[in-house]
Parts: sequence; structure tokens; C-alpha cells
Amino acid sequence: MQRHYDIVVAGGGPSGLQFARTVAARSDYSVAVLEANDDLSENDTSTGGTFRQIVEGYDLPESVVMDTTDAVEFEGSGSWACLPVEAYVLDFPAFLEFLGEDAEREGAEIHT
Ligand SMILES: Cc1cc2nc3c(=O)[nH]c(=O)nc-3n(C[C@H](O)[C@H](O)[C@H](O)COP(=O)(O)OP(=O)(O)OC[C@H]3O[C@@H](n4cnc5c(N)ncnc54)[C@H](O)[C@@H]3O)c2cc1C
Repeated sequence: MQRHYDIVVAGGGPSGLQFARTVAARSDYSVAVLEANDDLSENDTSTGGTFRQIVEGYDLPESVVMDTTDAVEFEGSGSWACLPVEAYVLDFPAFLEFLGEDAEREGAEIHT
């Protein structure tokens, strides 16, 4: 582990990993991600529901998509609606591992 980086990201969740991945791919900055868990896949904060904008915007492979649907039910206190929206269920641990591996391929360092 080197001692100096241009950018240090605290937390290897979706935000930190996608940020590191993008910066590493698009700049010459050295980037390190520091993750408190022993493994990126230990982050269990999400059930993985998401929309096409994320799957396409993050350029995700099919291998991290567990399921798709063409309708989504939105529930609030006292009301709900089922809308015809294309949606996805990600394999959240696989999604995080993919982001981490791709960030490393782009030159970022991941330290758990
Ligand atoms: C039960 C539940 C279900 C959810 N379901 C969905 C869903 O279906 N779809 C959806 O879009 N969103 C869902 N969410 C929300 C989603 O999980 C968050 O929006 C998303 O995880 C936020 O990503 P993040 O990278 O900002 O933070 P996080 O995912 O919280 O990642 C932060 C990372 O930082 C690490 N960390 C924390 N402190 C430190 C430290 N001091 N040093 C180093 N590392 C640290 C943590 O271990 C963690 O890995 C759900 C949330 C919960 C709680």
C-alpha cells in the first residue's frame, strides 16, 4: 500500500466504488478506497432493486442482474401505485464485487 494518494474514498459501497471506478478510468489521479468490512460483498444494506438508468449508466454486466420486471409497486403510508416501469433486481454482493474489480482494473486500489 503506497502512503500517498491523490484521492482516498471512505467506504466501498456503490457510491464510493463507482466514484473510484470513474475517476480511475477518466483521470491520472491515484485513487484508494478504504472499506471497513473484510470484503466488499459484506455490505448488505440493499435488496438490489434498481432501474435501467443504473444498469446502463454503470455499464453493468448481465451477471450481476438477478431478475427483471416490467412493473413496480410503490407504497407509501396509506397509498400505493403499480406503474409500468422496467426495473431490475441486482445481486448486490456480485454488483459490489464487479465495481471493485473494475475499479482495480482501471488502476484504483481497494483496501478492506
Ligand atoms: C434494508 C435496505 C434495503 C435497501 N434496498 C434498496 C434497494 O432495493 N434499492 C436501492 O436502490 N437502494 C436500496 N437501499 C438503499 C441502498 O442500500 C443505499 O442507497 C446504498 O447502499 C448507498 O450506497 P453508499 O455507497 O452511499 O453507502 P453504503 O452502501 O452504506 O456503503 C458505505 C460503505 O462504507 C463503509 N464504511 C462505513 N464507515 C466506514 C469507515 N469509517 N471507514 C471505512 N469504510 C466505512 C461501510 O462498511 C459500507 O460498505 C436499501 C437500504 C436498506 C437499509
